[in-house]
Amino acid sequence: MNRNPAPPPGDSYDSPRVRALLGTGHPNGHEVPPERQVFVNRNLRMDRIQAVGFDMDYTLAIYRLGPVEGLAFALTRDRMVEKLGYPEVVRAIVYDPEFVIRGLVMDKQTGNLFKMDRHNHVGRCTHGTRILPPDDIRRLYREEKIHLSLPRFAWLDTLFSLPEASLFAGIVDAMEGEGRTVDYGRLYDDIRTTIDTVHADGSLKNLVRADLARFVVRDPELGPALHKLRSGGKKLFLLTNSAHDYTDVVMRHVLDGVLPEYPSWRNYFDFVVTAARKPGFFSERRPIEELSPTGEALGEARSLERGVTYQGGSLAELERLAGFGGERVLYVGDHIYGDILRSRRDSLWRTCMVVEELERELAWLETKRPQLDELARLEELRARLGDELSSRRALLNAVERRLDREEPAEPDRAALEEERRRDKEALDLLRRAHRDADARVAALEDEIENGFNRHWGLVFKEGHENSRFGEQIEDYACVYTSRVSNFLFYSPMEYFRSPRAAMPHERAGLPLAPFGDEHALPRAAARPSRASKP
Ligand code: IMP
Ligand code: MG
Repeated sequence: MNRNPAPPPGDSYDSPRVRALLGTGHPNGHEVPPERQVFVNRNLRMDRIQAVGFDMDYTLAIYRLGPVEGLAFALTRDRMVEKLGYPEVVRAIVYDPEFVIRGLVMDKQTGNLFKMDRHNHVGRCTHGTRILPPDDIRRLYREEKIHLSLPRFAWLDTLFSLPEASLFAGIVDAMEGEGRTVDYGRLYDDIRTTIDTVHADGSLKNLVRADLARFVVRDPELGPALHKLRSGGKKLFLLTNSAHDYTDVVMRHVLDGVLPEYPSWRNYFDFVVTAARKPGFFSERRPIEELSPTGEALGEARSLERGVTYQGGSLAELERLAGFGGERVLYVGDHIYGDILRSRRDSLWRTCMVVEELERELAWLETKRPQLDELARLEELRARLGDELSSRRALLNAVERRLDREEPAEPDRAALEEERRRDKEALDLLRRAHRDADARVAALEDEIENGFNRHWGLVFKEGHENSRFGEQIEDYACVYTSRVSNFLFYSPMEYFRSPRAAMPHERAGLPLAPFGDEHALPRAAARPSRASKP
């Protein structure tokens, strides 16, 4: 017989001493401000991660949103006039950083730009930069399912594509403003090939290199964040599509001399792969080439060494030479397709997406907290008012039918007429309340969404749904955050846990917190009707 049975489970987790040990709720003893947090879609245990790979552009190198896209825009625009014969009016178009956001879709058939929610439902749309009314949107996009994989559409999933969308809309405006007919498909192709050249022939990069401080942020916390990961035993590597020479100047600006222990940016990384040609990198099989310090190709790499730069390659080769791979690698990038989606589909690598826009959007939402709370309460109330209106309308109809068809005698008739009078009064009251709630919801949505961006609203939301862009981040990135240095707030062994998921049926029956029953109108269905028949 067991004389020492295990004590029954207690609630020591709720004791004051344990609570005191937990402090603020974060293992590092401090709260991380929302705009610097790492958000979790799928659990990620950093103690199981052996190597962390980083993309460079818009990931380790944070371009200031605006100037670099403006420069790519201007170079492409002028080249289209000079080399492709676009009319002079195009030269006058200026880049408006407010006009384009990530997640929009260019429609090469209509010259439109649109933003979708997670159900691929088009919420906002412009022709050129002119906002289209809801009727046009319904006619154009709600009659058949939108398949973004069709060549008709181009989806802006990287910050690099903002200038081309802006130029597409600007040129449609400018040329149609002069009464010209635009071949939208051709326009798209011309922009694409021109911007490709601007990237590839050095014209953009030479200007960026000449004034790096203007274009690229030097985040003083990036070095310490990388150091923290290294101290936690992680191997770090760089995997970028940029060529070795550009990578070197940008990384020097970003990391050289930040920490005395790391005089050169190369000291942070176990190896560096440039010109990686993602997304093909993840699915094709290509050798990794070793480069000399001056950038000459030295032939196929036999190993990956510290301080040496490589180029090209593929996932399989990298894993073979590095000796690690699979789900022990975390890859941090900013491009939803090239860095995140393809690495998830073609490899077991875990993914972290860097979404620069988060910082501004979270800061904005923080200032709109009271409006967001009011909006949540009002949407609930509006739905209840709508339900109440429908049931009362049905009751009034029933009373009217009886008065018309049955021609009841007194005193039933008087009672029914009295009921009809009261029903109408209640209906009027409810209708007014519903209309006012509707107007207030619209005003609040306008303040929250259009106050942030008058053309497109919030980046991560479309109406009360997640935007398609937000949904893609949720689907493909294990975790996401606004910048790499946010890892400084966490332990290199952190267990990033996703919040418990809840389907709508699990939320059923939760109390309607914002409106207590004392404010509720009596439910029509529960109301006894004196004049109704037994
Ligand atoms: P990563 O983000 O570090 O992998 O690399 C991005 C690289 O791709 C940069 O060198 C960009 O100049 C280049 N890039 C981005 N968009 C385009 C494009 O549309 N055409 C050609 N190169 C591009
Ligand atoms: Mg990038």
